[in-house]
Amino acid sequence: MREDVQVLFKNRRPGETLFLDGYRAAGGYQALKKALTRMTPEEVVEEVKAAGLRGRGGSGFPTGQKWSFIPRGKPGIKYLVCNGDEMEPGTYKDRQLLLADPHQLIEGLLIAAYALQTEVAYIFLRYAYEDCARRVERALAEARQAGFLGDNILGSGFSCEVRLHRSAGRYILGEETALLNGLEGRRPNPRAKPPFPVNEGLFGRPTVINNVETLANVPHIIGGGAAWYRGLALTEDGAGTKIVGLSGHLEKTRCVELPLGVPLGEIIEHHGGGVWRGRRFKACLPGGASTAFLTREHLSVPMDFDALTAARSRLGTACITVFDDRTCMLAATLNLTRFFARESCGWCTPCRDGLAMVVWLLEKIEGGTANQDDIHMLQDQARNISGQTMTGAMSGPMRKDYVFKVGARAFCPLADGAMAPVEALLRLFRDE
Ligand code: NAD
Repeated sequence: MREDVQVLFKNRRPGETLFLDGYRAAGGYQALKKALTRMTPEEVVEEVKAAGLRGRGGSGFPTGQKWSFIPRGKPGIKYLVCNGDEMEPGTYKDRQLLLADPHQLIEGLLIAAYALQTEVAYIFLRYAYEDCARRVERALAEARQAGFLGDNILGSGFSCEVRLHRSAGRYILGEETALLNGLEGRRPNPRAKPPFPVNEGLFGRPTVINNVETLANVPHIIGGGAAWYRGLALTEDGAGTKIVGLSGHLEKTRCVELPLGVPLGEIIEHHGGGVWRGRRFKACLPGGASTAFLTREHLSVPMDFDALTAARSRLGTACITVFDDRTCMLAATLNLTRFFARESCGWCTPCRDGLAMVVWLLEKIEGGTANQDDIHMLQDQARNISGQTMTGAMSGPMRKDYVFKVGARAFCPLADGAMAPVEALLRLFRDE
């Protein structure tokens, strides 16, 4: 079936990790060599732009465009940071990539560093991913030994050091500016944006932050070319493949690589083996706990950025959690909201007090002591915390139709993301 399009998972074998010899035998580090010897940094950026790669960490920002924001020709240090602080409930795709093929990330990181002309890069890894950390450490040592890392890489004159940093272990550290504070040794409160990290990031210097899966795509784009990469997706606007993680009430919960654009229902039926125990599908979160629920009517929606936004949810991390027909959606939402409330950094009032209030209201409804006023208050909290979603036209290199928020009051996307399932609960499961 469609699983035969294996790009990022082509070296994945059950229970095994591919280290340097195997990676090189499979064509590894050829793309780095091509970039360093036959392409200028600007050409690498243009190739990634032309490939249409969008960020795989959850927000789908165009990667080549982000890279092109980095000030060029300005003296001084610039940084590249790989965000591997994967802590979105239900999301475990980066872990699979790192367990199977750590050199793929390192090669992507080095090509990106060359494109951006950064000589220091960090891999910021989730605290709980010690199994990945050990593999990345070994792969970094192997790459250094083989001349792919460090001074004068492959005699090209380009030098780059990569350092592994273990996260302190809270969800907020995955927010890119909180991550930068964490990396600097500060309390990981998010920073105000703008300035965006590309202008003022780590230690105040221009910094590009990309997710693990995003960077893992880069060697394939440089090796196979932008046109080949775009052609991998099933949707016209889409590009590439996506690692899809399956969890919840399915017969098979596993991580698969699929072209972008496979319909949600096909993924659930074919790759997830269908809803478990012969039960019926009720709902799913398509891309992590900070995306809105989808229901049966959405099963034909392609798993791609724009299609899921049009369905009033998001592709997010593309890690799908399925709920069967016996699930109480209120209880499921309460469970998610408790997580977000606990993980709030407490910096801004809408998140610190608002999420606690939402938990209290959901508990009241769950306990059967709520009245209509409480439902209104819940609706009000959701609106206050995350603002209102609007769709509008945007000119320039951005996509034509862009969904944006107006009046969001929380300081960073944590509370906003927390409200996605709550808002969907009120919209789709009001009767419950
Ligand atoms: P965002 O859309 O605000 O930004 C996306 C990226 O583009 C950022 O790197 C940002 O700096 C950059 N950017 C945006 N506009 C820019 C501009 N005008 N100039 C320069 N750079 C610009 O989203 P975000 O705050 O980075 O991420 C939120 C997402 O993270 C959520 O959508 C959620 O799905 C996801 N998330 C993922 C995990 C996980 O474990 N993978 C955990 C929590 C949240």
